Amino acid sequence: MFSINENYLKLQGSYLFSNIASKVRAYQAAHPENEIIRLGIGDVTLPLAPAVIEAMHKAVDEMSVQETFRGYAPDLGYEFLRSAIRDHDYKARGVDIALDEIFISDGAKSDSGNIGDIFSERNRVAICDPVYPVYLDTNVMGGRAGSFDQATGRYSDVIYMPCTEANGFLPDLPEERPDMIYLCFPNNPTGMTIPKEALQRWVDYALQVGAVIIYDAAYEAYIAEPDMPHTIYECDGADRCAIELRSFSKNAGFTGTRLGFTVVPKKLMCGDVSLNSLWARRHGTKFNGAPYVIQRAGEAVYSEAGLAQTAAQVAYYMNNAAMIREGLTSAGYTVYGGVNAPYIWLKTPDGMTSWEFFDYLLENANIVGTPGSGFGPSGEHFFRLTAFGSHENTRAAIERIRKMG
Ligand code: PLP
Repeated sequence: MFSINENYLKLQGSYLFSNIASKVRAYQAAHPENEIIRLGIGDVTLPLAPAVIEAMHKAVDEMSVQETFRGYAPDLGYEFLRSAIRDHDYKARGVDIALDEIFISDGAKSDSGNIGDIFSERNRVAICDPVYPVYLDTNVMGGRAGSFDQATGRYSDVIYMPCTEANGFLPDLPEERPDMIYLCFPNNPTGMTIPKEALQRWVDYALQVGAVIIYDAAYEAYIAEPDMPHTIYECDGADRCAIELRSFSKNAGFTGTRLGFTVVPKKLMCGDVSLNSLWARRHGTKFNGAPYVIQRAGEAVYSEAGLAQTAAQVAYYMNNAAMIREGLTSAGYTVYGGVNAPYIWLKTPDGMTSWEFFDYLLENANIVGTPGSGFGPSGEHFFRLTAFGSHENTRAAIERIRKMG
């Protein structure tokens, strides 16, 4: 008789988005005349940039001709894309990353889950609370979380790092000693990001305790303020302790197109074993490459036209973010985020729970957002709105909230 990976049985049901969907369905059935505005999900809405579409068309045509047809991609990804990444995302910021330290993938979600393959089940994991749920769930699957306590909403073996109003939504160095530290800046869901000197403290700490940092920079393109690092490798010593995850989803709208990459520096060692060679082995064995057409589309993001067009898309969303921030602030709400990230993290009024505020907003303004408690216990009494809607819907939503008083 076979057995299963019993760690999967320790996963808690992911009710957040299904709960939201069923509440919205029920409301809509009872009030079919009301138009609902959705500022809940973290998916982009603008179409792919013209430069990206043009590159995809061209690549599709190449696939139809014997001489230019491509089969399996190289293990690490095509060099044309890795060179563009190295030059624009790293060299241009004074960071030296070699081509064979960049691994092209189908996105940051897969990489953030799969990276656990190369680490021992015995490692202690530290994650932020609230958090993008993938880091936690994949460590539960990997047997690093221990048992779940319904009363606290926490796993016994995970080191939780609360991100609260009191610490400005930047985690404090943990009291218990972690082996693996997950950081994500700019952050989903809080919409806050980390100044360079604060990130340097994490790098120094990781080097001191011998921990590895898994740094998710999926929202890097939204950084607007100076002194906010775009890559962890802007910090001294990060190439000896950090792996960086990146995505084309939020900077260029590839959520349905699928493209991302992971950087594993060769200096990152565990004793005399290089993590770069472990990840290369894992990648080559379990992944057969992102499609040629999509890698050409990714390359086009770095062309002159692609850079200008995708920057305009980010600006469009950030204009929404500013509208939400200002609108809510003037309506008397306390809001965070939305300056270097497309998420606004608002404090629920009058001590309402996150779900109470969800119902209140749905019933009184017909707006859908995401309850903060769905991202972890410390997200209670907060609520996430996203800037990924249209200008028109965002403006209408703010107007409704203002009228609601
Ligand atoms: N990392 C964070 C923090 C995210 O919020 C998301 C998606 O919402 C992802 C990664 C997923 O990125 P990708 O579309 O590249 O898988």
